[in-house]
Amino acid sequence: MIPTEVVLSPQSYAQIVSELAEVLGYEGVSHLQLAHHLALSVSIQQENTDLVVLKELSPNPCPICHRRLTFLRETMDRFESDGSQQVRCPMGHRYPGELKVYYLDIFQHAAGSELEKPVKVCPECQGVNIQYLAVNVMFCLDCDWDSGMEPRYQIQSVGD
Ligand SMILES: [Zn+2]
Ligand SMILES: [Zn+2]
Repeated sequence: MIPTEVVLSPQSYAQIVSELAEVLGYEGVSHLQLAHHLALSVSIQQENTDLVVLKELSPNPCPICHRRLTFLRETMDRFESDGSQQVRCPMGHRYPGELKVYYLDIFQHAAGSELEKPVKVCPECQGVNIQYLAVNVMFCLDCDWDSGMEPRYQIQSVGD
């Protein structure tokens, strides 16, 4: 399961942008700069907001070779765009799969504030690209490790 998008109310968006501008010492922060900072796409909505969208491809690992999927973001993008409901594993196997979408309401007005960063190296892949969403909420940009972000509920299940 990996986070792919942040959905914010206009109020939260304004607050996070102003906090981030302050931290970075900029006059203002664009939508694109915020998305880049969070390493997630950001959308603004009136309802069902202040959520992080998490996606999971299932089954994983591959039922044929039992390898875990790699390049999850790219694999999910491909799965969503080609519409064949087929997952492609790192070895090139194609098998029927499902993309599950979860929503996690973790936003604690911490995206732009000074954070302590207790984890700097990913315990899974030793990568150093750890992205923080809140003090205790983080994920790795290089693999599917996260700090145990449990989705509270699943709203949407694509591909049945
Ligand atoms: Zn395989
Ligand atoms: Zn990692």
